[in-house]
Parts: sequence; C-alpha cells; structure tokens
Amino acid sequence: MSTCSACSEIKGSDKNRLRIAIQKSGRLTEETEKLFRNSGIKFAESHDHLLAHAENLPIDILRVRDDDIPGLVMDHVVDWGVIGQNVLEETSMQREVDGQDTGFSEVMKLNYGDCRLSVAIPSEIEWHGLKDLEGKKIATTYPFLLKRVMKQHGINYKSVLLTGSVEVAPRAGLADAICDLVCTGATLQSNGLKEVETIYTSKAVLIQRDQPLFPEKQAIADLLVQRFKGIMAAAESKYIMMNAPKDKLEQITAILPGAENPSIIQLEGDPTRVALHAVSREKVFWETLEQLKQLGATSILVVPIEKMLD
Ligand code: ATP
Ligand code: ZN
Repeated sequence: MSTCSACSEIKGSDKNRLRIAIQKSGRLTEETEKLFRNSGIKFAESHDHLLAHAENLPIDILRVRDDDIPGLVMDHVVDWGVIGQNVLEETSMQREVDGQDTGFSEVMKLNYGDCRLSVAIPSEIEWHGLKDLEGKKIATTYPFLLKRVMKQHGINYKSVLLTGSVEVAPRAGLADAICDLVCTGATLQSNGLKEVETIYTSKAVLIQRDQPLFPEKQAIADLLVQRFKGIMAAAESKYIMMNAPKDKLEQITAILPGAENPSIIQLEGDPTRVALHAVSREKVFWETLEQLKQLGATSILVVPIEKMLD
C-alpha cells in the first residue's frame, strides 16, 4: 500500500504497476524522460510530485535524487531505477560496508549519461603517474571508487569527502588533487586544473531489483525493454535513399555502412537506373556520400529514424 502525493489516493494494487525511480532534476533527467516519452509512456510533466502515474500504461514514476536510486532498488522499494554506473558502484560499495543489501540486476545499458571519474591536479604541477599522489590529500565525492583504484596501486593518500564544488578544493587549500566526474573538462580548466588519469568510465544504466517481478509487471517490463532497444537502435541508424545506376549496384551496396539488404525499385522511364533504399546501422559520413556520388548515385538522402522494431 502506498499513498500517492499526486492525487491523494491510496493505491492498493501496486503489484500490477511497474514502479520506476528516475532522477528528479539533473543530468540524467532530460534524456530519461525523453526515452520514456518516446516509448509511449504518458505521464504528467509536473516535477512537483514525488510519484507520477502514467496515464496509459501500468507504470508509476518516482522522482528522487540520483543518490537514492540504487538504495530504492536494492531495498525493493521500486522495481526499476535509471542511474549512472558511477553512483551505482559507489553506493554498492558503501552499502556493502554498512551491511545493507546490494542485490540488483542490470536490465540494459542506456545510450546517455556518459562521463568519467578522473584525477585532476593544478595545471602547473608535473604529472608522472598515480604514484605522485602518495601521501597527498584528494578531494572527492566518490571515496569508494577512488579507494579501490588507489588500493590496486598500493598508494597511501588522505581522502577529503566533499559532496559539491570538488573542483575548488585545491585552490581553497583543502586538497592537493581531486577525483571528480568529467565530461568536457571545461570546469577543470576554468578552475586551473588538468585531468591526469581516468579511474572509471560511466554511462546511464537501467537496473532491476533482484527478485522476480509479478507476471503482470514482467509483461510491462518486457514491453518497455523492447521499446527502449528499438529507440536506441533507431538513434544509431539512418534511412538512406538514392537513385543509382543499375550496373554499379554491387559497388554501392558494398560501401553503405552497416546496411542490410537494400530495397531496389525500378525507376519509371529509365531502364538503366533504380531507386535504392537501405537502413544503415552506423553513422553515415560525408565521405561515404561523396563516394556514392562518384559511383553515379544522385538525389542521395540520409534521414533519421525515430523508432525501429526488428
Ligand atoms: P542530484 O541532485 O540528483 O543528487 P547530482 O548533482 O548528484 O544530482 P548530476 O550532476 O545531475 O548529479 O549528475 C547525475 C549523473 O549524471 C552523474 O552521476 C553521472 O552519472 C551523469 N553525468 C552525465 N554527464 C555528466 C557530466 N557532464 N558531469 C557530471 N555527471 C554527468
Ligand atoms: Zn546526486
């Protein structure tokens, strides 16, 4: 039984509704909501409520801080969670130490939330390798991930735990180095730091609690996984169309990146040329289009694909 803050109704049939925890507001939120919307889940746009019911599917979305998501899954409060691997791994190690449950299963990796956990030091300092950190103070939000790597390298250091503004720690005299999440490196640069070693690479993942789901929930989970996969496959694919000389078809097909059997359609009024349509599973570069043109292809179109179901 749970109380819904969105509609003040007590919901008793939770066993039929797939409950998913997502980040309320942050770097994973936009992409996660886009993925859900593109999968046909219609839920209230309002971010004020902790729990949002999907209007058209038996799904409830719980909006929380990302740090809470692994615990909600591991404590079986929700069925699914979308989370960065960095937070998942750090929380797992923390919970292990605290003697809490750490069980979960990975449903699938998602195609966003890419970042890396790196060591950075003041730009003017020379770097020879991790051994330079022996006896130094390192500020981080990820003490367990840092400790694991340092232990592997047999380096003794002092960890300074900061949950925000880690990048100002060296300038403020709080630490000699930092171990923080990096995407572009711009934040480091503007704080006079340079990235010297990547200790962990991360992306967003979909995880599930480590108990079988009720059949009704499993059915909706299977449906969503298929749709998520379709959206991710589509994101990497393009639909290519062109008119091409019949006698060059073999060469043209050979250079189409990751294309499956193309459809060939006879063009009206010109027995020497055909229309060719193909789905390419890879990025299509300008170079490829230029080669196609040299082989006599004309009216070449490359269009994005929104959904894909094999
Ligand atoms: P919350 O308020 O939910 O605790 P937060 O400040 O801890 O949010 P965000 O900065 O929103 O977290 O990042 C959430 C996750 O997004 C990170 O843990 C990481 O997995 C991922 N991420 C993706 N891109 C980046 C980036 N450029 N910088 C930092 N994290 C990123
Ligand atoms: Zn967080």
